[in-house]
Amino acid sequence: MSFTVAIDGPAAAGKGTISKGVAAHFGFAHLDTGLLYRAVGRRTLDGTDPIAAAEALSAEELEQGDLRTADIAQAASKVAVIPEVRAALVDFQRAFARRSGGAVLDGRDIGTVICPEAEVKIFVTASAEVRAERRYLELSAKGTDLTRDQVLADVRERDARDAERSTAPMKPADDAVLLDTSDLSIQDALAQAVALIERKRPAAF
Ligand code: C5P
Repeated sequence: MSFTVAIDGPAAAGKGTISKGVAAHFGFAHLDTGLLYRAVGRRTLDGTDPIAAAEALSAEELEQGDLRTADIAQAASKVAVIPEVRAALVDFQRAFARRSGGAVLDGRDIGTVICPEAEVKIFVTASAEVRAERRYLELSAKGTDLTRDQVLADVRERDARDAERSTAPMKPADDAVLLDTSDLSIQDALAQAVALIERKRPAAF
């Protein structure tokens, strides 16, 4: 029996932290679907064709090297507009979502396209300024040369590309619950997500 939690939202809204926390709390498996697009994006930086890279993607690639860099984030959002790239990644995500024991997937189109049947859908948001500050602190900890303003510009550029693309644009599903984390601590955001899932969770989970 499966139980799927879909967590969508823009960059640095807190999806990753909430998803990991929820997965740990309930003992569900977790897939950060952004890593799929990042792994394809990274391949294109050395000249590989994005569709070929998506079709040949292996689970091991998601674990190799640091995919969470600013350059790879931009490359990811560029390959993510290509319908054939998205199509090549659908089966893997759906199979993950329906594994037994419960699954949490976070991304941009999980509640709308990948798992429209997900039992719980949460759309996590925060203001662009708050998200850029979080991303800046994350990148600074790894030693970035980017300024706060550059990170904010990057976040805005990626938001626009993700929300305006014609295939699977980032948007909340009609039945998603919105969770704005602008003024919430990590603990409070996680507690709200856990409470929401708790209400919908069947006894078997
Ligand atoms: O979530 P993350 O910032 O790692 O995602 C990197 C990029 O991958 C996003 O900007 C978006 O363009 C793309 N993406 C997507 N659909 C998903 C997950 C990520 O288009 N489900």
